[in-house]
Amino acid sequence: MSEEINPFESLREQVDDAAAHLDVRPGTLERLKRPERVLETNLSVELDDGSIEMFRAYRSQFNGARGPYKGGIRYHPGVSRDEVKALSGWMAYKCAVVDIPYGGGKGGIVVDPDDYSEAELERLTRAFATELRPIIGENRDIPAPDVNTGRREMNWIKDTYETLENTTEPGVITGKAPESGGSAGRVEATGRSVMLTAREAFDYLEKEIEGATVAVQGYGNAGSIAAKLLEDRGASVVAVSDSSGAAYDPDGLDAQAVKERKDETGDVVDYDAPETLSNEELLTLDVDLLVPAALENAIDADLAADVRADVIVEAANGPLTPDADDVLTERDVSVFPDILANAGGVTVSYFEWVQNRQRFYWSEQRVNDELETVIVDAFDRLTTTFEDRDLPNFRTAAYVVAIDRVLRASEQGGVWP
Ligand code: GLU
Repeated sequence: MSEEINPFESLREQVDDAAAHLDVRPGTLERLKRPERVLETNLSVELDDGSIEMFRAYRSQFNGARGPYKGGIRYHPGVSRDEVKALSGWMAYKCAVVDIPYGGGKGGIVVDPDDYSEAELERLTRAFATELRPIIGENRDIPAPDVNTGRREMNWIKDTYETLENTTEPGVITGKAPESGGSAGRVEATGRSVMLTAREAFDYLEKEIEGATVAVQGYGNAGSIAAKLLEDRGASVVAVSDSSGAAYDPDGLDAQAVKERKDETGDVVDYDAPETLSNEELLTLDVDLLVPAALENAIDADLAADVRADVIVEAANGPLTPDADDVLTERDVSVFPDILANAGGVTVSYFEWVQNRQRFYWSEQRVNDELETVIVDAFDRLTTTFEDRDLPNFRTAAYVVAIDRVLRASEQGGVWP
């Protein structure tokens, strides 16, 4: 894990790599590599013991050419201004790859939520929502869950916003509980698009997903659901990990049972697997499919040289450094990028927003069917672009598709005044 690699520099490099295959003017290129604005705020929160603690928080609005800014809010001690800027850029290009009418945004609070009570987290979330209020809205910027946030936090943000604005506007935020205007299928959506991408990738590469061995690094929402859905398609999930280490069974784990054990104890290594491994050992297992589903920079160039998987499908945002990408391209490992593979989350957020605006709610089957259409279409567009333009890898192909769409929207709008 290379903590020292700045994700914002990685984003800039990824945009440059793709822009080299497009006709982009230098001033415009720089615009594609920086957010439009970043809110940095310091939140004061009263803790349960009566003391006051300050928390730093950010919201980056990357590019609004294609629609309102869209992207999650994460709670993590590693959150930084540059990380949030990078994540907001990845959101802008992700929304463009799957062609949903949004720009990119991302927010975060520097906090380890495990250290605080539910009441403290509620006060923290409402304090952040109060700071966000002037810049969010269903036509401005629509936050959503990300690392360590979920329905609970989204419901608090919706309630704070609606109370302060004296309105009903469920589309100000997505990833809510169904009773608060959430969509069926939203919780599973990121894992589902990882599974769909893997299915399409194996088909494209003329490999069988049935019987394929899979290792999943990170066992939160995206990783655990991707593992379960891949297992449902006949793949054998042999290893899964979290920050405690990895559970490994060469004959295949029971993805759901590992999840249930993790829910009980907090750690996947508490599952009674034949072997435990380190995260690094998991990432270099000889498997058919590797799914990094944790944080940025999980695989750097050194580790990439030891990766033995044939295919990587990225469930996390930014799990490979640009140098790792170069090594894997050189070694002919097929990497299907985050901005396609984990786009299911934001795609079903889009469906949630559409349902909120129409006050008309869809069945889970309809959500899943529409999601499948979006991901399969995006996959086809990506692979066609990869072949037609003779691009070095699928990530560059995804950025070529995305940047082209963002550019066209920006150019049609023009530079004003
Ligand atoms: N946090 C998710 C992502 O990185 C979902 C964002 C959203 O639903 O807006 O794609």
